[in-house]
Amino acid sequence: MIAYIDRFVHENDVESMPELDRDEEDGGGVLPLFKGLELQGTVDFDTAAAGKDFGGLQSSEPLAMIRPASADDVARVIKLASRSPQLAVAAQGNRHSINGQAMAHRGLAIDMKSMDSRIQVDPSGSHVDVGGGALWEEVLKRCVSDHGLAPRSWTDYLDLTVGGTLSNAGVSGQAFRYGPQTENVTELEVVTGNGDVLVCSPNQNSELFFSVLGGLGQFGIITRARILLQPAPDMVRWIRLVYGEFSDFTADAEFLVSGGAGDSFDYVEGFAFVNSDDPVNGWPSARLHTGHPFDPTHMPPSAGPVLYCLELALHYNNHHRRSAVDKRVERMVGGLRYCKGMRGEAEVSYVEFLLRVKRAEEEAKANGIWDAPHAWLNLFVSKSHIAHFDAVVFKNILKHGIGGPMLLYPLLRSKWDSRKSVVLPAEGEIFYLVGLLRFSFPYHPKGLNLSVDEMVAQNEEIVEICKRKGFDFKLYLPHYGDRKEGWRQHFGNQWTRFQQRKASFDPRAILAPGLKIFSRNWQPS
Ligand code: FAD
Repeated sequence: MIAYIDRFVHENDVESMPELDRDEEDGGGVLPLFKGLELQGTVDFDTAAAGKDFGGLQSSEPLAMIRPASADDVARVIKLASRSPQLAVAAQGNRHSINGQAMAHRGLAIDMKSMDSRIQVDPSGSHVDVGGGALWEEVLKRCVSDHGLAPRSWTDYLDLTVGGTLSNAGVSGQAFRYGPQTENVTELEVVTGNGDVLVCSPNQNSELFFSVLGGLGQFGIITRARILLQPAPDMVRWIRLVYGEFSDFTADAEFLVSGGAGDSFDYVEGFAFVNSDDPVNGWPSARLHTGHPFDPTHMPPSAGPVLYCLELALHYNNHHRRSAVDKRVERMVGGLRYCKGMRGEAEVSYVEFLLRVKRAEEEAKANGIWDAPHAWLNLFVSKSHIAHFDAVVFKNILKHGIGGPMLLYPLLRSKWDSRKSVVLPAEGEIFYLVGLLRFSFPYHPKGLNLSVDEMVAQNEEIVEICKRKGFDFKLYLPHYGDRKEGWRQHFGNQWTRFQQRKASFDPRAILAPGLKIFSRNWQPS
């Protein structure tokens, strides 16, 4: 039931509410909290959806879900929480987190998607202003269809909110060139944990700007972002190259992201897959389309249980001659060490390419695996340990696959501004994104019959092995449950800075309680 906000109780009355609980349909003891707040938006006490996320591994209902109309509404909710000793506030984007990061156990959830998500392209074409709750898919469609422009850096899947990905990093195959999405915003409007609505940029309130980007929602709620644009191409040549040897795969991937032979693809990703005919984990998963040949006789006899696929894309426009695009592609892939005869190509529109995962989503929904739990694990692993990681994790623990993509592609540290809050491996220019995107299938491919609990345990085993072997790695989209020590180790030498930022912008630890980094009564340590 949606309860519109009444104005008849003075807002300071909240101080006399030591215990909050929700025992009635209309919010019970919580309802009086909102009286006098003068929100323009609404409060919803049917919070079942707000207590779940894409991971489906945890559930934790908030007391109420606020649908703000403006940044001022967000500020009012934060100020309200600050007057209570225990209330916390979680901004919720599209709730596509895996481990409850956007949850607010017995707190207040703010539904950012309901906020004004106007998408305003600057007349100069250099940037677009969008609401923090806008979906990247909406941003893409509006910018391309109305202006022929597009952001430079994406995620693979676009049903994620701008605020949600900017709070983490936002990586995909363009990040080697433009950095993650956090490197492609020039200004933010943020509501801090102090309830201040502030505009920030590298030159204005800069500490807040750098804190919030990659800040896991700990310092402020992003209500508007200014995103850099560039002309959108019409078309994409989409290429997959299969490798039998890990060393060939990484050498080529690193060569391409480091500048190649001068010319450069617009997108470089890769993944590992199983050397078998299993429809989910094996050869068929590397095919771009049904016409993409996969003849295992082309594989070198030395190929092990796992193969690798480099995924590349080159942008071009309708007025470019096909033969010129062909030549450019040949020049760039000619010297690469993939298994000749194991190359697939497709031509798709730029928008179609960026919405490629949506097609997979539709299929997964039809198969019933989209809404089942997802025990996903994402890591950044330093180049110095990626071969060892491959030997221990891909070729051994995961040699039968995971029931979904096993992403593996290099990124460049120099494209990540260390003033931002994202945490990267300690050493070296190149590190790898490893994404274990597990799905729970109703049938079990050969050798892969894990329950969701076993998948979670296997993820933990992988993280433990990385620690035991001394790999230089960090969790991406991190989660450590209640383990404060886990967070301290995660941030490493950035822990002091992270705490100082918390003390400045959210000293009462009101924001993003689902991460469990800070509790309301935290003290710097
Ligand atoms: P939510 O899950 O709702 O929130 C995530 C965190 O951000 C929470 O802590 C929340 O409190 C905080 N938050 C949300 N909105 C705001 C805001 N406006 N201001 C401040 N904090 C906020 N990531 C990549 O980098 N690349 C990918 O290619 C990629 N693909 C994905 C594909 C799928 C199918 C899924 C499920 C996830 C993928 N992700 C990817 C991960 C995704 O970027 C993160 O999980 C992201 O946080 C999800 O965005 P969301 O809008 O659903 O955020």
